[in-house]
Amino acid sequence: METRRIFLQKASLSAMALTVPTLTPFTAMADSISEFTRDEKTLRVAIMGLGSYGTRVAEAIQTCKRVKLVGVISGTPSKVLTWREKYGIPEKNCYNYENFDAIKDNPDIDAVYVITPNALHKDQVIRVAKAGKHAISEKPMAVNAADGQAMVDACNAAGVHLLIGYRMHFEPNTLEAIRMRKSGELGDIRFFQGLSGFTIGDPTQWRLNPELSGGGAMMDIGIYSINGARYMVGEEPIWVTAQEVKTNPEKFKEGIDETITFQLGFPSGVIASCLSTYNMNNLDRFYLNGSKGWVEMQPSTGYGPIKGMTHKGPLDEPIVTHQTVQMDEMAAIIFDGKKPEVPVDGEEGVKDMKIIDAIFKAVKTGEKVTLSLT
Ligand code: NDP
Repeated sequence: METRRIFLQKASLSAMALTVPTLTPFTAMADSISEFTRDEKTLRVAIMGLGSYGTRVAEAIQTCKRVKLVGVISGTPSKVLTWREKYGIPEKNCYNYENFDAIKDNPDIDAVYVITPNALHKDQVIRVAKAGKHAISEKPMAVNAADGQAMVDACNAAGVHLLIGYRMHFEPNTLEAIRMRKSGELGDIRFFQGLSGFTIGDPTQWRLNPELSGGGAMMDIGIYSINGARYMVGEEPIWVTAQEVKTNPEKFKEGIDETITFQLGFPSGVIASCLSTYNMNNLDRFYLNGSKGWVEMQPSTGYGPIKGMTHKGPLDEPIVTHQTVQMDEMAAIIFDGKKPEVPVDGEEGVKDMKIIDAIFKAVKTGEKVTLSLT
């Protein structure tokens, strides 16, 4: 229930919204943020890494009910200036990669959303945890399971949440497919297919540099089929086999996978057959087959709208901005202890990293690799 204090703050904010001119002076916008920060149930977030996805998340936060963008951590001063102007971020909430440990002394920031290249997540999340702030990490949480576990341990030791940016776990059509499977409408689940891929451009980008990406398509896009296989089937895989094809070794160097097909085996006998690639366009499809019905989603993990068909007709759930819903739900997880239908905690991220480790091992050895995720 809203306290009187929060109600009054909101009322004064609304009044301010009526009186502030359209071209809000910079200092007035900064003031409006410090006003907002008095609402204890609003998750006040700083974004680390103001790149393409960070920009999308920042925009999505603007329509959140319980989340406010209040800070930035960036290595690019010109971006910081633009973001300050655009979102009314006060200077005292702006950091760079050298000085962001000082965020521990900033009571106006609750959480840091790490949206940098994959290989940087581990150290950055651990520093955020040591600063006593909740950490949200983009996927993949790390570049292997050991690093992911180190992040989980650091956040546990600091008593802060670690959440992974699995936006599909809050997407309504995805949740309806999961509901159908759980309710038995699909009968016994027998098979899942996940196809995840796109054609990657610029050969100089960090995604094609193993030092920063930790891998190629698998870390970036194949992870959607891995994670999707788990939430669509509703079990944890117990073995994996995998095969790699590389048509352009110059672009996809050692340590950067171009195309990998992989198979997952589940305890009930369900099998999943998946494809991860940086060399095919329009690959974004899930198919779940059970003894009584089926669900097909295409696109299945893109920004939306997600489109789905089932044995009984189309999936027709509301179209949402994934990142807006994700952030509001994360505020509820942090403040209210809400348990999402599919977890987004660090342990969930480590499971995907263990599967990726096993896929890479299976590619290398040609062997079936057994998994123990439970
Ligand atoms: P970008 O390259 O667009 O942005 C990354 C940003 O990280 C840069 O702009 C930069 O911001 C910062 N950065 C810090 N150190 C480096 C470095 N050494 N090299 C390059 N950039 C650096 O990448 P994306 O935004 O596309 O991806 C970032 C993360 O988000 C990845 O982990 C990716 O997997 C994930 N992602 C998740 C998506 C989802 O749907 N959940 C979709 C897209 C990406 P600055 O200049 O401010 O320092």
